[in-house]
Amino acid sequence: MQKTGNIQKMHVTLDGENARYQLPIGNDLIDMNALMERTISLKFNGKIICSNCGALTRKSYAQGFCYSCCQNLARCDLCIMRPETCHHHLGTCRESAWGLENCFTPHIVYLALSSGVKVGITRKNNTPSRWIDQGAIAALPILEVDTRLKSGKIEHALKTHVNDKTNWRKMLKNEVEQANLVAVKKQLLPKVFELSTNLDATTLNDEVLKINYPVVEYPSKIVSLNFDKTPEIKGALQGIKGQYLLLDCGVINIRKFSSYNITLTLK
Ligand SMILES: [Zn+2]
Repeated sequence: MQKTGNIQKMHVTLDGENARYQLPIGNDLIDMNALMERTISLKFNGKIICSNCGALTRKSYAQGFCYSCCQNLARCDLCIMRPETCHHHLGTCRESAWGLENCFTPHIVYLALSSGVKVGITRKNNTPSRWIDQGAIAALPILEVDTRLKSGKIEHALKTHVNDKTNWRKMLKNEVEQANLVAVKKQLLPKVFELSTNLDATTLNDEVLKINYPVVEYPSKIVSLNFDKTPEIKGALQGIKGQYLLLDCGVINIRKFSSYNITLTLK
């Protein structure tokens, strides 16, 4: 099998508790779980095509865009990374209609176990993909609000008590600090009681979602691969976690190389 096309971040779904991955390459979707333990080659053909405007770009900005789109799209603005800084109400949103559709919809504040306990936010209709993308082995939605800004304010307040980052090396090695998410939730909610009441947040049920990843063997040492330095990456697929392919020669973050023109060959 051989396929050539621009790649995008893997599509993820949950089948029971098992994460399933499909790699978009051109117009095809490759079932990556089916390639487990097979030797694959991913060859970068030297072209990066902006996934918004289709222009050829020398560098991929904000995971798949040309410089101009990265400067003009609301989804590439800093407020997406820091939702508490949403500035839609000031009339300065880069794309007001996109903002209304994506940021003024139900959002969830959650706890997840990626490398340890972390707090995060996501659009409600982006679960459980958000957690699979992060390589979380468990997630617990704790509060629901009606805008991204409100979820950002609560997350910002919770960050002083709990981590909001994932140590991706630990996540990939499966060195996860265990914790009881329901117990952590019980400790944290009182700390943001006033804020969440003022923001009309709904407290969600204690339903912990567990996620298993298709991994035959976790790496003991992380070798990070990069198409810019190594145009052809070839190895046996030993696992997939987060947006990373775990090959016997190293790991590659597929999301980071969105819009790269790649030839995938099954050896
Ligand atoms: Zn563009």
